[in-house]
Order: sequence, then structure tokens, then C-alpha cells
Amino acid sequence: MPDPSAPTSEHTARPVRVLKFGGTSVGTAEGVRNAVRIVCAATEACRPVVVVSAAAGVTNDLVRAAEEAQADPATAEAWTRRVGQCYHTLAANTLTDEELRARYATALQAELSELHRALRERAGPNAAAARDAVLAAGERLMVPLLAAALDAHGQVSQSVDATALLCTDAAHGDATVQWAPTRRRVRDWHRSRADGVPIVPGFVGGTADGVTTTLGRGGSDLSAAVLARALGAERMERWTDVDGLYTRDPDEHDDARPLERIDFDQARTWTKTGRLGMHPCTLDPLIDAGIPLRVRCTHRPEVPGTRIVPAPMLA
Ligand code: ASP
Ligand code: MG
Repeated sequence: MPDPSAPTSEHTARPVRVLKFGGTSVGTAEGVRNAVRIVCAATEACRPVVVVSAAAGVTNDLVRAAEEAQADPATAEAWTRRVGQCYHTLAANTLTDEELRARYATALQAELSELHRALRERAGPNAAAARDAVLAAGERLMVPLLAAALDAHGQVSQSVDATALLCTDAAHGDATVQWAPTRRRVRDWHRSRADGVPIVPGFVGGTADGVTTTLGRGGSDLSAAVLARALGAERMERWTDVDGLYTRDPDEHDDARPLERIDFDQARTWTKTGRLGMHPCTLDPLIDAGIPLRVRCTHRPEVPGTRIVPAPMLA
């Protein structure tokens, strides 16, 4: 059922697509470069909104960092350096242009001092909020890196603050998106936004007071789905390290066949058992709005992947 208050073609000449890149997609220089090519190609056909995860493994580190800093604030220093090193190396391998590297280094420093501050706050009275500020750093560090990589390709982009867009309750670590204010904020932002491809850090939201929250592990998928629904997107694309869904696990069964399409009911069952590797609530906003999801491989963009569609579209 189309949402009558969704932005229509009057507002946007081309349809919106939400492209989400997971941690294994953007965890290497090659992955970031592939993501850039995919985004640039998408601009030919649609108005992409990009959602990024933290580089693979970083959120796990941040979870540990938050834990250790609460017990011993002196560990904040070493953790900040370690996370900084990871992104510094990724940027050094991805960006060849001196100026873009310098620009990223400035953004990196600013985010790292926020991370350091949040780690130190773990021992204080706002420990739960500080933990979310720590966890959000992985995604927040990725946004300016992808922006610089797009710039190197001549693609203008716009870094977006998800805290101001995805409105959540204050259940730190597993916050629930508040649909009505989120929809309003996302649409207001989209209507008045500057030119360029928006890059949104996944997994991150904010309370009505603007305090950073996170949506639970794997939450970037949900961020993308919520944005897709709020924007009346034509579809969501989930770019990952697998080239789609199979009838059986292709690593274990030679007769596994790739699936071109499955319907939402099937996908929902598989999401519950963890087979799709997505945040368990990802499909809800898409099903509500009848927005199809495509699972595609960042490293093999020529493979069509699998479409997850409303049942009538299967026919
Ligand atoms: N970086 C977060 C996590 O690892 C969110 C995500 O990747 O979807 O859980
Ligand atoms: Mg994930």
C-alpha cells in the first residue's frame, strides 16, 4: 500500500534508493573503492542515500573498550589509539590524494577526541549513554572516509548526523526507533538537504534531547530500512560480502542454488533463525511500506543477488 504522505515524483525526479554497506564491505580499501563505484553508478539511475557500518571488527573492539574503560579509565588512551590506527590505515590504503587524506585526518582527530571523552565518561554517572557514544564511533569514523573516497571520484557527498534524524527512546544499547518523529525529521531533512549523496552512519540514533543511542548489534540494517520507509524509497539495497541467498549453505552443499527472489514471509522466517545475518527488525519497516530489499555483493557487483519482495511481486 503506497504511503500517501511519502515524497512523490513531484518532489524528486528520480526515485530514492537506500544503499547500505556492511562492515565487511567497507572494512578494506578494496571494499571502499567498490562501494564508491557502486554509489557512483547508482546516481545514474536514482537518488541514493548511503548508510554505512563501522569497519569489520571495530564495533567488537568498541564493546570491549567500553567495558574496560568503565573498570579502568586509564585504558581509554590505548583503545582510542587502536581504533584510530585502524581507520588511519584504512584511509592511507584507500585515499591517494594528499589533500583528501589530510581532510580525513582532521575528521578522524575530532571523532577520536569524542571517543576518548566518551570512554573516560564510562566511569561516571552517565555510563549507559557514554557506552552508546563509544559504540557509535565506528560508524561515525567511516562516514568522512567514504565521503573522501567519493570525492576522489568526483562525487559530491554530504555527511549526515544520524542522531538528529533517527529519533529513539532512551534504551541505550538497544534503542527503539520512534516512528512518527523520525519520519518527520527524515522528510524535513530530505526536502531541504544540500546537493550530493547523503552518507548516514548506520546503527546510530538519538533521543528527543539529542543524546546518542544505538539500535542494537547489526543495527545499520535497521537504520537503512527506517530511512527507506520514511523516504518512500523504491528499494533498499543491502551490500554485503555474500552474493545473495541460496537454497542451502553454498559452503557446505555443492547443490546449493542461488535464489533470485524470495517473499517477505520466507525472509522473515529466515531472519528469525539468523540465516540472513540481519538485525531482526530490519524487515518490519520494509514490509509495512511494501519496499523490496536486494541483497548484493560489494565485491561482485555484477551478480544480481537476491530480491526480497512482497508476495504479489513473486508472481
Ligand atoms: N557496527 C554495528 C555492529 O557491528 C552495526 C552494524 O554493523 O550493523 O553491530
Ligand atoms: Mg551487520
